[in-house]
Amino acid sequence: GGSAFTDFFGKNGFALLMLLPMLLIAWHILRGASRFAIGGPTKLLDTTAAKYRFSDVAGQDEAKDQMTEIVDFLRDPETFTRLGAKAPKGALMVGPPGVGKTLLARAVAGETHSRFIAVSGADFRQTFMGLGANKVRNMFKLARKNAPCLIFIDEIETLARKRSGSPGSGINSEEEATLNALLVEMDGFVGNKGVVVLAATNRPDLIDSAVLRPGRFDRRINLEIPDLTGRIGILKVHARNKGLADNVDLEIVARRTTGMSGADLENLLNEAAIRATKRAAPAITMDDIDGAYFDVLLGRVRNGAILADDDRRAIAVHEAGHAIAAATVEGAKRPQKATIVPRGRRLRVVLSAPKEDRK
Ligand code: ADP
Repeated sequence: GGSAFTDFFGKNGFALLMLLPMLLIAWHILRGASRFAIGGPTKLLDTTAAKYRFSDVAGQDEAKDQMTEIVDFLRDPETFTRLGAKAPKGALMVGPPGVGKTLLARAVAGETHSRFIAVSGADFRQTFMGLGANKVRNMFKLARKNAPCLIFIDEIETLARKRSGSPGSGINSEEEATLNALLVEMDGFVGNKGVVVLAATNRPDLIDSAVLRPGRFDRRINLEIPDLTGRIGILKVHARNKGLADNVDLEIVARRTTGMSGADLENLLNEAAIRATKRAAPAITMDDIDGAYFDVLLGRVRNGAILADDDRRAIAVHEAGHAIAAATVEGAKRPQKATIVPRGRRLRVVLSAPKEDRK
């Protein structure tokens, strides 16, 4: 016979070979869970928040005001609760994308020198039973260890969907277990532990009412698309680190950008800076911002669209007519800019300041 080794291998080699893929799969699952657990939960801590302040958030004064209590608590949990004041546990930030929900949460953490954990509701979506709930528990454990700590959960509606309702639209048992874990954790932290959860959503109507009960996300903080003053403030914030030419008037830019979110405005100035850089200019001019604006709003210039001269003339006269009418007729929207340069799918446009912002 052969050596002990070959004997062993001959008998068990096949079984061992079969075991290998199973081990690999198990390892994979564990690793999947370990972004939160074994592999190093500290990865969840977001250290970039420390540099943010309220002054970085423009045009959301009411929302900032509503954070006062949470800020006071995080600054000094002991003092806050010493005389029996109830510690705030969570607030729901409601607003469309790009208005500064994440930014405001970071600023609260920065202002209060709290640790910051940022996750998305979708991070807790798990195929395997119990892992989502486990992630929730691990996250809270990490937060308590690092108190004062602010947990930010983006898109909370994906984690906390309404439980009852029509069949099919309801959540499955795995999601329910995850949501329950969140509620248990929030109910669990008592007194002055120094952990606050801010959740963000654009769809508060989808959220299970149990989540909004007292002691959970019981405060609602609304963030809106900025108005004119807000836009001026936001543009100023993002112009701080940019070289603007003297001819740039941010109020004019703000007037033309009704409906844009903070993220849109940041993007606008960024695109303008790229344009200025491309032409090796010493500073960003109003033309750069105009160009960026049209790129962002209407799509890039289409050089391929060539029109006959008489067509171009007809279109120019037509658009000029719109502009003059808008400028002179009482009560009409004030025209901001007319163009017949083909962009995206449009050939021409007259842009007007909508009513809301007219002076
Ligand atoms: P949300 O979480 O509401 O989707 P974010 O906070 O992620 O929006 O915003 C994205 C970026 O847009 C921010 O990092 C910031 O640069 C800019 N921004 C959004 N809102 C504001 C604001 N109110 N003031 C200044 N910058 C803003």
